[in-house]
Amino acid sequence: MKKKIVDNGFCTLCGACEAACPVGALQVDSEKVNRLHECSEDLDLCPICYELCPHSEALLLRTLKFVSDSPVKNEALGYYRKIVLAQAVDPKLREQSRGGAVVTSLLTYGVEKKIFDSAIVSKAEVDNPTKPQASVALVPDDILSAVGSKFFPSSVAKAYGSAVYGYGKSKIAFVGVPCHVLALRKMEAWQHKIGNNLAITLGLFCFGSFSMLPLLDYLEKNYRVKPSEIKQMRLSSKFVVQTDKEVLKIPISEIEGHILPSCRTCTDFTNELADISVGSAYPLEDWSTVIIRTKAGEDFFYDAVENGVINTWVIQQEPMVYERVVRAAMEKRKAALAEAKKMEETYGYLPVLMLRETDALVKVKVEDIMTRNVKTVSQSMTISELLELMVKQHHIGYPVIDDEGKPVGMITLEEASQVDKEQRNNVSVKQVVHKKPVFVHPGETALDAFKKMSKHEIGRVLVVDPANPRQILGMITKTDLMHILIAQ
Ligand SMILES: Cc1cc2nc3c(=O)[nH]c(=O)nc-3n(C[C@H](O)[C@H](O)[C@H](O)COP(=O)(O)OP(=O)(O)OC[C@H]3O[C@@H](n4cnc5c(N)ncnc54)[C@H](O)[C@@H]3O)c2cc1C
Ligand code: SF4
Ligand code: SF4
Ligand code: SF4
Repeated sequence: MKKKIVDNGFCTLCGACEAACPVGALQVDSEKVNRLHECSEDLDLCPICYELCPHSEALLLRTLKFVSDSPVKNEALGYYRKIVLAQAVDPKLREQSRGGAVVTSLLTYGVEKKIFDSAIVSKAEVDNPTKPQASVALVPDDILSAVGSKFFPSSVAKAYGSAVYGYGKSKIAFVGVPCHVLALRKMEAWQHKIGNNLAITLGLFCFGSFSMLPLLDYLEKNYRVKPSEIKQMRLSSKFVVQTDKEVLKIPISEIEGHILPSCRTCTDFTNELADISVGSAYPLEDWSTVIIRTKAGEDFFYDAVENGVINTWVIQQEPMVYERVVRAAMEKRKAALAEAKKMEETYGYLPVLMLRETDALVKVKVEDIMTRNVKTVSQSMTISELLELMVKQHHIGYPVIDDEGKPVGMITLEEASQVDKEQRNNVSVKQVVHKKPVFVHPGETALDAFKKMSKHEIGRVLVVDPANPRQILGMITKTDLMHILIAQ
């Protein structure tokens, strides 16, 4: 772990290694992982800290099993049951959160109703409100004091360890960004003894965390803002820094250089392994986007809704929100894969890439996994109509057919959403579609399909009849391929 993760700068200080180490050899502080003693004296070849670290390739496919029985498989958003807009009923809470305050409301409700016995939250430090301090919340006041996002690393997995060992808690709600939730899912998949104490995971969307000292230093040098003067940081279309005297709106491109190295190759925006994922609903001010992934998450969420804690709203009525989330997720994934490729070429080091495990793909035929009854769109459909259809049907890409039903292209939400909002009623699919469809035949293997996707840098291929190439028999997406790997 030290050589591959810590020394390469990939550690995001979650503290899972400290919580899971059987001999207490590690201690994670707000800047680094400290080795307290040489563990090889106690144990030979112990794999625990490396395998449970969210930045190692170990156990990834096993962790997907926690969500993979959900009905929707979406290339951008992962597996889920429902996607809705939501907000805390209490307006004061929304004001404090500067978002929907869904996470705080759900946690408070769960602790009050004794659905769980504690929650892992990240409060703001008293002397430095931007610095998160991971802690074990036992009563609603502890949860309320953690409202709002802090954009620096938080050792939430370490706090989870303290909840089990220090407080004897056994039904813990956990809040974290995707790498935090991955660490906890790995504990469960590994069957680590503290993994059983997890009751529910609330995952935050995440574009990245910042390296604390360099960013604070940058703000002091360039904007003359001292760390102690910062009251809050927020993320909307700009990075917003609020002090007593002023509100700075800094373009995200300006501070991107201070994002942690791990975040550059991280493909998960919407927290794909959480029971419930929550992110902003930009441009709606005090709403959150909520993706409910598991049955446990669904039961808990709607229990809170029925008990008057949370308001919900249909996301299909706000296609701009859905579009923004899907685009952000696709852009993050694309950028991360490109960065990973660069790293492999430059350093010979490959960060996590799930579809590398291709053995299983050779054994499966395209016809056994393809989605039949493929939905297509016509070239004459407008971009507005297409985007509405995407939100309604939860698909983010469609084959485009000509008047005779022949496949002539593929169109994705990413491409459609690049059309100016004012123009979308007047621009047709035909004017936007650039990508030619890529075909496979039913008798080819899943690996053949994967190779074609990689070669053409696309997320889906069409299955056509070799005797009649204009007849679409089915479609395969990267998510379908992932599904095969999970099932092994
Ligand atoms: C580093 C980071 C980056 C993010 N990037 C995006 C983004 O690009 N797009 C987007 O839509 N949303 C992003 N989010 C999520 C967003 O900021 C909100 O947290 C989310 O929408 C939940 O809102 P809420 O009003 O329901 O949360 P609230 O009710 O305000 O609760 C927030 C919860 O977040 C926890 N928390 C705060 N800071 C941290 C932290 N550093 N690590 C772990 N837990 C923390 C607190 O314990 C609290 O319980 C990010 C969050 C973080 C922490
Ligand atoms: S290798 Fe095992 S014993 Fe050593 S620090 Fe990691 S978890 Fe602890
Ligand atoms: S488990 Fe967490 S704290 Fe430990 S090395 Fe990995 S990212 Fe860092
Ligand atoms: S971008 Fe990924 S690695 Fe970085 S903090 Fe967010 S979840 Fe963790």
